Amino acid sequence: MEILYLGNDILRQKAQPIKKIGSEYMQIAQELLRVLQNEKGVGLAGPQVGLMERIFVVHISGDEPRVFINPSVTETSEETLKYEEGCLSIPNLYADVIRPAAIKVQAWNESGRSFTIEASGLLARVILHEMDHLEGKLFIDRISEFKRSKIIEKFEKACAGKDKAELKRTLGKRSSKKRSLSKATQTESQQSLEEES
Ligand code: ZN
Repeated sequence: MEILYLGNDILRQKAQPIKKIGSEYMQIAQELLRVLQNEKGVGLAGPQVGLMERIFVVHISGDEPRVFINPSVTETSEETLKYEEGCLSIPNLYADVIRPAAIKVQAWNESGRSFTIEASGLLARVILHEMDHLEGKLFIDRISEFKRSKIIEKFEKACAGKDKAELKRTLGKRSSKKRSLSKATQTESQQSLEEES
């Protein structure tokens, strides 16, 4: 599995529902979690590695790894939260995105068991970001056109004349700057937002 970057049309396609959660999804989930760990991210959705199925994984430090198959958001809070987001498909570029502060989600895990989760803070944020990936949406679609064009410009600049491995080295250099939730309007959790999803 290889991460696809901004500009790849696959990232803009809608992922399909998984009809039967067979035993192969145990392995697929493990593989997604492995890539996520390698990339030091907090969330990874199928389409980001070219898997056009409704599956994503979330692993926030201090929390258990979570697998979401055919997820649906069943409730969202009226309260919203501004939060700085990044994405493994748009490495090292960040922007504030406003989303609901808390959500309720129903999904199935890799064993085919249905579950419901109430999430807020970073977990809610990552889930909503990954849900967007299943719709072919990226976080830059949720910011102003001006900020979006700035990010695309910086991304293209970093990509110019580089092959994929080189690109990864260039873009993969991680900033040591810690991003905390203190910038957010509400501080439920103090987890670092340095990670990308
Ligand atoms: Zn992402």
